[in-house]
Amino acid sequence: MISNEGMLVVVSGPAGVGKGTLCRALFAAWPGLEYSVSVTTRNPRPGETEGKEYYFRTREEFMEMIKNNEFLEWAEFCGNYYGTPRFHVESVLARKKTILLEIDIQGAKQVKAKYPDGVFIFIVPPSLATLSQRLRSRGTEPEDVIERRLATALKELENIYDYDYVVENDEVDVAVEKLKSIIIAEKCRVKRKSFSFKGEIK
Ligand code: 5GP
Repeated sequence: MISNEGMLVVVSGPAGVGKGTLCRALFAAWPGLEYSVSVTTRNPRPGETEGKEYYFRTREEFMEMIKNNEFLEWAEFCGNYYGTPRFHVESVLARKKTILLEIDIQGAKQVKAKYPDGVFIFIVPPSLATLSQRLRSRGTEPEDVIERRLATALKELENIYDYDYVVENDEVDVAVEKLKSIIIAEKCRVKRKSFSFKGEIK
C-alpha cells in the first residue's frame, strides 16, 4: 500500500506580484488543498473578512501571540506584522495533508529553516514595470507605501536562489497550471510517500 506524507508548500515572492490571485485560483480548482490563514496587524481592505483572508489583530494581541510561541514564523512587512499560526500547519501535516502558505520572503526563510523538506515556490512578475502598475491599479495603498513596496520588491528578487521553483505570473491560467504541476509532481516523490507492501501478494 502507498500512502502520502504531509507536505508543506510555500508560495512567496514580492508583494503585488499576484501571489494572492494565483493562490485563490489554485484553491478554487483544488478544494482538497488546505490553506494557512495568517494573522496580521494591518487594517482589512474592502471585502476582506475576519478568518477568511486574515485574522485581524491589534499589535498588542500580535505581540502576545509571539510571546506565547503561537507562530511558526512572523515578520514585519511595510509597517505591519504578519504571522503564520503554528497550530493549524502542524495539525494539517499530522493528518498527512498538503498545506499551502502564502507569505513574504522573510517568513519563507524562517519556514525553510524549520521545514527544509517543504516545497518553496517563488512568484515573479513579468517585469518590474508590471509590478508597479499592479500595485498602483489596486488603489488601496497611498503613494509612499507603494514606493516602499517597490523598493522592497527589487531587493527581494535577489532571494530567488533559495527557492526550488520559479513561476512567472504573466497569465494567471498558465501560472496556476504550473503551480498545480509542481504540487502534483512533488506529491509523487518517493520521499513523500510511505510504503507497506507486506501481505499484498498472496
Ligand atoms: P498584504 O498586506 O498585501 O495582504 O500582504 C503583504 C505581504 O505579506 C505579502 O507579501 C504577503 O504574502 C505577506 N504575508 C501574508 N501573510 C503572511 C504571514 O503569515 N507571514 C509572512 N511572513 N508574510 C505574510
